[in-house]
Amino acid sequence: MATSSREKAGLLSRKSYDDDAASIGSHEAENASVDGRTLEELEEQDREVFEDDYEESITSVPPSHRGGLAQIFRGVGASQGNVESEKTPEKKSRRPTKRHRERRRRGEEESELMYEMEEGGDASQSPSRSRTPSRGSSESDLHRLGKIQEDKRARKRRRFVHAIIHIGIIALFAFLLWAAYRATLFTRPSLALASLSNGTSTFLPTTILISLDGFRADFLQRGLTPTLNAFIQEGVSPLYMLPSFPSVTFPNHYTMVTGLYPESHGVVGNTFWDPNLQAEFYYTDPARSMDPKWWGGEPLWVSAEKQGVRTAVHMWPGSEAHILGVEPSSMDKYNGKETLENKVSRVLSFIDQPEETRPQLILAYVPVVDTDGHLYGPNSTEIRQTISDVDDMLQSIFMGLTQRNLSEIVNVVVVSDHGMATTDVTRLIQFEDLVNVDEIEHIDGWPLYGLRPKNIDDLDRIYTDLKVKAKDYPAIDVYLRDRDMPERYHFQHNARIAPLWIVPKAGWAIVQRAEFDVARGQASGAVYHPRGLHGYDHEHPLMRAIFVARGPAFAHAPGSRLPVFQNTDVYNVVADSVGVVPAPNNGSLRLPLRPLGLHSDPGAPRPEAPDDPVPPPPPATPDLPSEPDEAGGPGGDGDDDVDDEAAGKMLDSDLSEGGAGPDDSDSPDKTQLRPWWQWLLDKWKEAEQKLSKLFGKVGSDDQDDEAS
Ligand SMILES: [Zn+2]
Repeated sequence: MATSSREKAGLLSRKSYDDDAASIGSHEAENASVDGRTLEELEEQDREVFEDDYEESITSVPPSHRGGLAQIFRGVGASQGNVESEKTPEKKSRRPTKRHRERRRRGEEESELMYEMEEGGDASQSPSRSRTPSRGSSESDLHRLGKIQEDKRARKRRRFVHAIIHIGIIALFAFLLWAAYRATLFTRPSLALASLSNGTSTFLPTTILISLDGFRADFLQRGLTPTLNAFIQEGVSPLYMLPSFPSVTFPNHYTMVTGLYPESHGVVGNTFWDPNLQAEFYYTDPARSMDPKWWGGEPLWVSAEKQGVRTAVHMWPGSEAHILGVEPSSMDKYNGKETLENKVSRVLSFIDQPEETRPQLILAYVPVVDTDGHLYGPNSTEIRQTISDVDDMLQSIFMGLTQRNLSEIVNVVVVSDHGMATTDVTRLIQFEDLVNVDEIEHIDGWPLYGLRPKNIDDLDRIYTDLKVKAKDYPAIDVYLRDRDMPERYHFQHNARIAPLWIVPKAGWAIVQRAEFDVARGQASGAVYHPRGLHGYDHEHPLMRAIFVARGPAFAHAPGSRLPVFQNTDVYNVVADSVGVVPAPNNGSLRLPLRPLGLHSDPGAPRPEAPDDPVPPPPPATPDLPSEPDEAGGPGGDGDDDVDDEAAGKMLDSDLSEGGAGPDDSDSPDKTQLRPWWQWLLDKWKEAEQKLSKLFGKVGSDDQDDEAS
């Protein structure tokens, strides 16, 4: 025991505080190892050593070093009586200085310990050099031998204390490291993520995530969605969820499953040019878009599968891209013609799998509301039927869960990726009127225009020209990616983002003449297609999406109301619901959620319905061809409009009133991903400061200011 303590002490001192003490410590260890020798041999050797040492001590030890660690360890470990009995006139000169005695008397052993160490006190030397020199008599030899043994014991105690101190410090750092690591990576929700039985089978934590593409938040206010409205009353939801910018399908679906802004995961639009890859991403061309090179970050199904949680993905954008070489356990490829009935049976078939193969995470994608929103417009008669159909689909899924006694066992999360704004022939801008097309090499995005000039030296001039023209076109904003792109868009830090952007106001479209001649179309009163568009400012009320959750991971009062949050938080929430540790991401919401109250609370904000109040344009004559975004073809009657002015003005107040609560108060300005190791480094520095304060380097009474 003593030997191992001694070894530890030697090892630790060598590595940390005091090289001198360490070398002495190891020398002593050699001496201490001669336990097999006879008493006489030991006596003889000790006498010689002590005589030499004594001579040396009275000539060479400077007074300032005569306190040193000896006192510390006497103070801490050695018996006071023995120390006193050793005192001789010579030794008294080496007793602790007055100041040190005062300090010790005040009971400051701990701080003195560190004080002494940092003073560089020559601790280990003083005991061995402060013995009474031999006078040759056997009586005094015996006496001395007793003292030698006392000293050895004292040294052992000192080494032991030394070791304990070092081990303590290292253990403290290790604990801080561990705590910091846990706090960042392994913050698990305080949820009972237990397996639950429905009476016939045991279910591991299971979540179904369903995305209704293009389901605008206020579609819930149209009296068409009894199932979804009942679901809100049973579950937990914000008034709406903010999409990410640009509010188009691929970037947002991938944001919801990675927690990353589009600039961070790299799918920065439905279509974009990558100057490094010298290739174009085009979402409707799987041969191009389903190459893993486009998809950064770690999607939900990869996080889950890596952690042994089985996933089934039904048509989620990106799920066919072999991202990180990890496939979902089950995957349905995209089929735009899949009926809603088939989606119901697919989801329930996953649930009906035997325990061994049943997925815990089921992702399903439902495109029809978006398709018909583009085709007919968000205020059309046709979209009403589609919204109702999707609600029926959800009812079938919920009924299926109820029949299986799984309503309280399986989590269901229903989201959408963005809203939809009505277009109109009166809200068109001819692209050629803004830009000399011959100077542009690549046009990214839609209905936003990301421009890459053929000659990058022309960028500033094209931008300046556009800014001048924008005065005549108040429905557009012009931004340079690296100069004045709004921070809240988080749309800068990726080479795939074009250097120059024209962003139209919601409900406006910029069209190239080959697609649609604006002057001709307006003169003839043509109907512009697509009838609905999205992709605009993600905070515009017409772009709002939904998030509703229910199940054992969301054990809140029915109808609980969450603060409004952005869809970068979906990944964390869904991962937590099945006990998957999320990869680092831009989201901050974690389970358990913290509702602000109930939707039904008096004074709780009511859902808004940003209608299209402007009178319809004159009846349409001929339909002119145009290039739709995600849908196209002939449409219905032209009866919708958007009050962009009113909607635009609502932005700021809505955001704050929408309940920017504790969880999302900073979400509009969450800037960069803050990796866990950065946090860890900060905590380490904090810990260092605390320790140095504690041990007296700095004023010891300062309370540390938490600044995390
Ligand atoms: Zn979409």
